Amino acid sequence: MSEQRDWIDISQPVGPDSGVFAGDTKFRYSWKWDQRRGASCNVAAIETSPHVGTHADAPLHFRLGGTSIGEVDLEPFLGPCIVIEGPVDGMVQQSHLRNIDLAATPRVLLKTHSRLDTAFPDRFVALSVEAAEYLGARGCRLIGLDTPSVDPAASKSMEAHHALGRRNVAILENLQLAHVSAGRYELIALPLRWIGLDAAPVRAILRPLRA
Ligand SMILES: [Zn+2]
Repeated sequence: MSEQRDWIDISQPVGPDSGVFAGDTKFRYSWKWDQRRGASCNVAAIETSPHVGTHADAPLHFRLGGTSIGEVDLEPFLGPCIVIEGPVDGMVQQSHLRNIDLAATPRVLLKTHSRLDTAFPDRFVALSVEAAEYLGARGCRLIGLDTPSVDPAASKSMEAHHALGRRNVAILENLQLAHVSAGRYELIALPLRWIGLDAAPVRAILRPLRA
């Protein structure tokens, strides 16, 4: 019997139009060496916030002295996960998470309003502190959203980030999930080994888990 388990890309495409928080550094690139100008090869130079596109936040993002993204444990970023439908507005509450078997799928990806474009929304669905605590207390290893942050855009206290950090729950943001059905998958979303930085891009992919 042949087995059809193709990988599904759930990463946002990244380019100069990718949205960032007001005041954050947009993704830019230029050509340091360019074969059109006689160079022997093409080499780009980039400038970017590490939070552009699909990325993982490190504890250092919200806590001085926290672990940098290049030094985090990789185990949360690969393995069984569940994609669930979140709310289209407001906050993800504990009630949205009740039916998850976190022992079987300790990674949770939340599909909210599922933007396909890369423009930066000024309002988006975020995670309530109660929901973050609920997941952390039950052994959740990773939470991922298809929005720019697990906290609301205007949040300065970043309470959901802190609640997840206290329980060692890894964070993925800016996933692209519009084309993914709710269900159980295998996730791979490894952050780059950027030592000393607060976040790093991931290439996030899913494939359906065997029944
Ligand atoms: Zn982030």
